[in-house]
Amino acid sequence: MRRSLLVLFSCFLLSFGCYADKVVIEEIRLWSDPEKTRFVFDLSGPPDYRAFSVSNPYRYVVDIKNSDFEKNLKLPALKESPVSKIRKAKKDNNTNVRIVFDLNTRVTPKSFVLTPFNQHGNRLVVDLYKFQRKGEEKIKVAVKEPSNNFRDAIIAIDAGHGGEDPGAIGPRNELEKNVVLSIAKKLAKLVNDEPGFRSKLIRKGDYYVGLRKRIKIARENKADILLSLHADAFKTANVRGASVFAISDRGSTSEEAKWLAENQNQTDLIGGMGEYVKIDTKSEPLVRNVLLDLAFGYSQRESLELGAQVLKELKTVTKLHKEKVEQAGFMVLKAPEVPSILVEVGFISNPKEAHNLSDAGYQIKIARSIFGGVKNYIYDRPPDGSYVAWLKEGPRDLRVHVIERGDTLSELSLRYSVSLEALKKYNSVRGDTIKIGQKLMIPAS
Ligand SMILES: [Zn+2]
Repeated sequence: MRRSLLVLFSCFLLSFGCYADKVVIEEIRLWSDPEKTRFVFDLSGPPDYRAFSVSNPYRYVVDIKNSDFEKNLKLPALKESPVSKIRKAKKDNNTNVRIVFDLNTRVTPKSFVLTPFNQHGNRLVVDLYKFQRKGEEKIKVAVKEPSNNFRDAIIAIDAGHGGEDPGAIGPRNELEKNVVLSIAKKLAKLVNDEPGFRSKLIRKGDYYVGLRKRIKIARENKADILLSLHADAFKTANVRGASVFAISDRGSTSEEAKWLAENQNQTDLIGGMGEYVKIDTKSEPLVRNVLLDLAFGYSQRESLELGAQVLKELKTVTKLHKEKVEQAGFMVLKAPEVPSILVEVGFISNPKEAHNLSDAGYQIKIARSIFGGVKNYIYDRPPDGSYVAWLKEGPRDLRVHVIERGDTLSELSLRYSVSLEALKKYNSVRGDTIKIGQKLMIPAS
């Protein structure tokens, strides 16, 4: 009696345990970025899983132990992904599940588990990277050095959040990640349309980029400044206005700024895998620290100046939440040599501003004002060797050449020792056409 009761009891425990602990796959979502396709499995608990590749034809298989599918589990649409089909099945007397990704090309897969954070629960992430042969991972793309005398000022534009991380959410479900991406794209276009300026969008679509990776992209593209765009949220809906932040090495200027920085930095946990900027370890630690400190002091001063210029212009199109540049320890602002600011374009928690920020016309106004401030800053202190620097110095030794029959631009560039590019840019000549009698300004070589 006692023994059978024990058996019965343990059976009950076992079956109860099995039932209670079953990990339910609630949703499978898909994100694509330029490097990979990411599948996120939303789960009711931490998974016990294994994943492996199969070839002929290529497949990637995920087995999750003691699990089940949510009733009516919808699979994501597979547009522009290396996956042609997702198949799901229960195995081993309905105890375990198997998900098979049928691939139309070979991939390099990675999978990992994320623990609950903010609105997210337990997740299993499957990343399918473009196939790389072993040893090919670190292909370096040669950076094209400009062949002319001057270069563009490079403005790195970072739309905050993305993908798994929506950022703040407005009263009508306006998502910060979408609003700031729209503004970032408009800003990038304004920058590119301006002679002597070029933009680098850190994120071009709806996917997450690690905070350190954002800095890395800016540095790799030799950015002169970095703008990180965000929208604020607060628990009371009437708070509104734009604000600008610069990095601080002595803590935050206000409690609010501190809280905000901690929150923004934490969003990296949503993306999961931290990506780290490599600091040159060859130099002596002490020397390195001194150099970093110097660079940091420089970029902090410059960031404050840049921030002030942007605030001044923002003020013409929106109310300001804070009149002065605030300082806080945002991770994304920590590039030592790149002046960087974080612009909160408004409060998405305020119904009026959420409405405005979703409006294309208003987004353009905000983008124009931010660029106005950036332009003023760059014209005030043009980067060495830049077109703007050259423009500011150029007219001092200006010579004029009147075009005669037989003159060509390339011949004139040789004669005056001025690059062809400079000659064209300075005179706004497109193509190679010049007219007899036309006056060309010849900048100092
Ligand atoms: Zn944000």
